[in-house]
Amino acid sequence: MDADITIIGAGVIGLAIGENLSANYKNVFLIEKHPSFGQETSSRNSEVIHAGIYYPKDSLKAKLCVEGKTLLYEYCRKYDIPYNNCGKLIVATSPEEISVIEGLKEKALKNGVNLDIIDKDQVASMEPAVFALKALFSPTTGIVDTHSLMKRFETNILNNEGQIVYGSEVTGIRKLDHGYEVSLTDSDKKHFSFTSRIIINSAGLTSDKVSEMAGLSDEKLSINFCKGEYFRINPPKNRLINRLIYPVPHPEMEGIGIHVTVDMGGGVKLGPDVTYLSSNVYDYKVTPSKQEIFWKSVKIFLPFLEYEDLTPEMAGIRPKTQKKGEPIRDFYIEEESSRGCKGFINLIGMESPGLTSCIAIANHVSKLIRK
Ligand SMILES: Cc1cc2nc3c(=O)[nH]c(=O)nc-3n(C[C@H](O)[C@H](O)[C@H](O)COP(=O)(O)OP(=O)(O)OC[C@H]3O[C@@H](n4cnc5c(N)ncnc54)[C@H](O)[C@@H]3O)c2cc1C
Repeated sequence: MDADITIIGAGVIGLAIGENLSANYKNVFLIEKHPSFGQETSSRNSEVIHAGIYYPKDSLKAKLCVEGKTLLYEYCRKYDIPYNNCGKLIVATSPEEISVIEGLKEKALKNGVNLDIIDKDQVASMEPAVFALKALFSPTTGIVDTHSLMKRFETNILNNEGQIVYGSEVTGIRKLDHGYEVSLTDSDKKHFSFTSRIIINSAGLTSDKVSEMAGLSDEKLSINFCKGEYFRINPPKNRLINRLIYPVPHPEMEGIGIHVTVDMGGGVKLGPDVTYLSSNVYDYKVTPSKQEIFWKSVKIFLPFLEYEDLTPEMAGIRPKTQKKGEPIRDFYIEEESSRGCKGFINLIGMESPGLTSCIAIANHVSKLIRK
């Protein structure tokens, strides 16, 4: 075999896996179709280190998020990656919402996440510009500079003598007796192939297609593109917010509601919203006409905000395995021996909290390989 392990996709998850495995195995290849790392979902997200509040107990999302946030904070400290453990408030703006945050506190505790309910005065001292009757404070939530994180993973892979091949798209996977033949097409449209004992599919939005290349197609694992758009709060009003502010989630909301995130550069944005795309197209346009909906949905807890304070910012696309209206699904991370593909590890539906969980996911994949 030319490679021992091949990872497809250099987003934050593929890179984290690459770092972990290149430290322990020889001949680890990471293949990426773009000329550099993190050109898709990993650079189009909120950059939040999530606490693990909303995910169902015992799900991979809950487990890997809670483990992952601790590992990620440690990693940031070790390698001097910019981060801010700023915390997050989920703000109740009516008496009914107060009982919802009490329920959320209990749910989070089942995932091992401790939250505090704070009163109006405490909210005012933390965030004077925010309106809330009460709030749930999550002290372990934070933000991270994702680009610096991915750059560090890349550097460590190269230092471990792993090989990263940019500008090459995996276009075919053929099963062999003891591994796989991988076909690539490079940016000059030249074709070549190599063999690998193990394959890890970390191809994000097209992970279902890569799985199909190996003969593993499954309707339940097809990816539905689900767009999330953001608007920025213009200066100087961005300086009125210090930490992440979320509304109380309601059953009729898709997702957890339009929230306020801060970034490492002091920018503040609203979003993301939730829009399933009718076909799987890479549509990163922001819809200017949504400005009013964004403004109205946060106005109750950001009373200082005027319509003109917003500017369209950016969009990202979630790789969801659930279709519109279906209940949320867990990450799919499986070694596929039971489906006839020994040594093929699929990671599908790696939506949020994929960034937070990336190092824990890498550890999980490493355990699957050792098995
Ligand atoms: C709007 C939004 C907000 C989010 N906010 C957060 C957040 O605040 N916190 C959090 O924890 N998570 C968040 N997430 C989720 C997080 O961004 C993702 O879980 C994470 O980035 C997924 O990383 P990845 O490496 O799996 O995928 P990607 O970053 O998509 O990387 C996959 C890579 O595979 C490559 N690829 C695909 N097919 C091939 C092929 N055939 N050959 C070669 N290369 C290929 C692609 O080019 C791409 O670079 C958010 C996501 C979205 C969309």
